[in-house]
Amino acid sequence: MILNCQNITKSFTQGPNQIDVLKGASLSLDSKDTLAVVGKSGSGKSTLLSILCGIESVDGGQIHFEDRDITKYSQQEMTALRASSIGVVFQQFHLIEHLNALENTMLPLEIAGDENAREKALSLLESVGLKERALHFPNQLSGGEKQRVAIARAMSNRPKLILADEPSGSLDEETGVSIMNLLFDLVEKEDMGLILVTHEMQLAKRCKRTLVLSQGVLKEGNL
Ligand code: ADP
Ligand code: MG
Repeated sequence: MILNCQNITKSFTQGPNQIDVLKGASLSLDSKDTLAVVGKSGSGKSTLLSILCGIESVDGGQIHFEDRDITKYSQQEMTALRASSIGVVFQQFHLIEHLNALENTMLPLEIAGDENAREKALSLLESVGLKERALHFPNQLSGGEKQRVAIARAMSNRPKLILADEPSGSLDEETGVSIMNLLFDLVEKEDMGLILVTHEMQLAKRCKRTLVLSQGVLKEGNL
């Protein structure tokens, strides 16, 4: 088991209102497993993913990563865990604008103190078809190319778990399909676990299992 979450709760305050986004969401993921989390817009998919990668805190519930209870990890501990074991791909790429493709890809390796960061990042860029673009900055890359860099960066520390939040969501259909093919190929080749968040059932079907996020809980079934 890579990941096991039980009864996660999360609320936000918006002005005078409190909105209860997650009301006891549970999921588990074995290594090499691929899980799609589908749900309507606003159902809390991104919130769930942000919690799993430690960008957001939880209000209640437990999260175990492998055999570690990471529920109460500090920001610093989560950053270290992310750098060593979790890769994240976002809809909006989230590349660092003043770093070129190579430097973006190297980041997790550098945080982890890898002495071969540069070589490894170059070979990753090659595997996503961007060797010739290594020295280009994000504003010199197309949307699809940016997402390829983001995928290379997410894979760079050979994480056990990839979290992807609508990775093809801001790309045209053809580019989106090629990005999803790349992601699924790499995840399979590298024996990684994947949690794919999407509102598209078609995409979800490419994962071994699907859970629907609705009314703050995760259930098996259809959207
Ligand atoms: P999804 O990704 O499924 O579209 P989100 O997780 O982005 O949904 O959002 C779920 C709900 O939580 C929405 O109502 C959104 O407005 C709210 N929300 C998300 N993040 C915050 C935040 N940082 N502060 C306040 N409300 C938030
Ligand atoms: Mg979202």
